[in-house]
Amino acid sequence: GATLGVLGGGQLGRMFLHAAQSLGYRTVVLDPDADSPAGAVAHEHIRADYLDEAALAALAAACDAITTEFENVPAHALELLAAQRPVAPAASCVAICQDRAAEKAHFRAAGVDGAPYAVIATEADLQAVPDSLLPGILKTARMGYDGKGQVRVRSRAELQAAWSELKQVACVLEQLLPLQLELSVIVARGRDGTVVQFPVQQNLHRDGILAVTEVPAPAVDAALQARAAESAARIATEMGYVGVLCIEFFLLQDGRLVVNEMAPRPHNSGHYTLNACDASQFELQVRALAGLPLITPRLHSPTVMLNLLGDLWFDPQDPASAAREPDWAGVLALPGTHLHLYGKANARRGRKMGHLNVSAATPEAARATARRAAALLGLPETW
Ligand code: ATP
Ligand code: MG
Ligand code: MG
Repeated sequence: GATLGVLGGGQLGRMFLHAAQSLGYRTVVLDPDADSPAGAVAHEHIRADYLDEAALAALAAACDAITTEFENVPAHALELLAAQRPVAPAASCVAICQDRAAEKAHFRAAGVDGAPYAVIATEADLQAVPDSLLPGILKTARMGYDGKGQVRVRSRAELQAAWSELKQVACVLEQLLPLQLELSVIVARGRDGTVVQFPVQQNLHRDGILAVTEVPAPAVDAALQARAAESAARIATEMGYVGVLCIEFFLLQDGRLVVNEMAPRPHNSGHYTLNACDASQFELQVRALAGLPLITPRLHSPTVMLNLLGDLWFDPQDPASAAREPDWAGVLALPGTHLHLYGKANARRGRKMGHLNVSAATPEAARATARRAAALLGLPETW
């Protein structure tokens, strides 16, 4: 039988491995962590650093094709692997997604509107910023996630202070846009250029972290769905992307759709696909990597996804409480609830521990049950 490999041992790697194993593949993970979510379910776990050349050679030798589950994997590691085996996505595509300046330049090249922005790498760049970008958000060009590495600035003085605070690394300053809501689209593109995608999903963030995803997106009509789908396909095709790609969009108060950022992998906002669609984002990742046919997935059940962060493991009334297991039995007694836990031993506040998909025959029923589940878990019941 064939073997598929993944760089990175987090929950995205774990769910990729589940999908690969369902399709009959042997699986290998390369990750430095002794007890990682993906390492626990892989047939073989190579425990090493991502730049360990002997480990990369062993991964290439063991696998027929290799993917990655996080975007900050060193591009050099993907290049070393690609010299020996098919690797998807390519190092060149991952490099674009790793750097907000390159990412925004790519969106422009693909003809997709984003927030007005400027790249700030030097003191001179900082001085040259036009007033029209304020108020804005200063974001580090590399390594930011869950809203980390971002500072909102209202004035030039605040911009100067924020850039110093971010240690004067390369940044982008984006105009602060009046958001109506946030959307994302998952696309999969094959080596033959076939592009398929899931329906657009509507996302709610709390404290910079994804909290709730709803599909079908309540605020999205057919015309908006088509605009998002077309932009997403163009972004993937213009960089010759192979694999699963997630693209985040803002819907502005005036109805304009603008692209925010992208991730070269399955995405937290696509976890609903596990129980809402006849193929999940992870199955399409396997198909794209293995060169199997890509089919357009069908949404069969309206679904609400609730992210389960480590905070749920602690008693909100008692900050010093020890971690305890939430009431899963109560949640699973509700109709259409699908619990996905990532096997992480240590709950920490803000840590992604799992997610709950609530599917039903209608969006109203999915939402009503999701609210009951949220109440049982102590999560906010409105979104
Ligand atoms: P992720 O965990 O999704 O990778 P991130 O740290 O890369 O997050 P962004 O997606 O760039 O951060 O921004 C985080 C959130 O901040 C967005 O989801 C949105 O709510 C808000 N935001 C970002 N940029 C803008 C903007 N230009 N105008 C208004 N709000 C913004
Ligand atoms: Mg991001
Ligand atoms: Mg984001």
